[in-house]
Amino acid sequence: MTNKQAYKTTFIAQAPAKNKTKLKIEMTPETKCSFCPGAICCNYFTEQVDTPRSKQDFDHLLWQLAHKNTQLYKDDEGWFLLVNNKCTHLHDDGRCGIYETRPQVCRDYSNDYCELDQRAEEGFDLFFEDYNALLKYCRKRYKKWDQRYK
Ligand code: SF4
Ligand code: SF4
Repeated sequence: MTNKQAYKTTFIAQAPAKNKTKLKIEMTPETKCSFCPGAICCNYFTEQVDTPRSKQDFDHLLWQLAHKNTQLYKDDEGWFLLVNNKCTHLHDDGRCGIYETRPQVCRDYSNDYCELDQRAEEGFDLFFEDYNALLKYCRKRYKKWDQRYK
């Protein structure tokens, strides 16, 4: 689906219970984020890492994935840690608590064909959801993985 198609979609937003009137709100670039459940892009951050090439590199990544809510993926831009912790400034209703002074990276992020349109996972070449998933990959990639310290 293209962005333009997505923006043309009209959603029905339920008005507050005391007001029984249903409001029709068109999804536009300005209103799009208000349709996003939980503000998807404010619930994690990613950090690019060097392409792992050695057992030591993968061993280090394993240590990082041993930490809660940390995952790893590779896409056509490289390898990234994915830390699934929501921003402390995100309000329960999906609004940013520091909107006027939010960091530049938040300002640069465009909602033009974002994760509300397509989940990021769909573009991953490799994805390791946790320590055990990466360990399995390491054992397959390096036949003597478990003997690496001997
Ligand atoms: S930019 Fe996209 S993913 Fe982020 S809150 Fe807006 S609609 Fe949701
Ligand atoms: S600072 Fe605001 S826009 Fe940026 S991630 Fe946090 S809640 Fe989202």
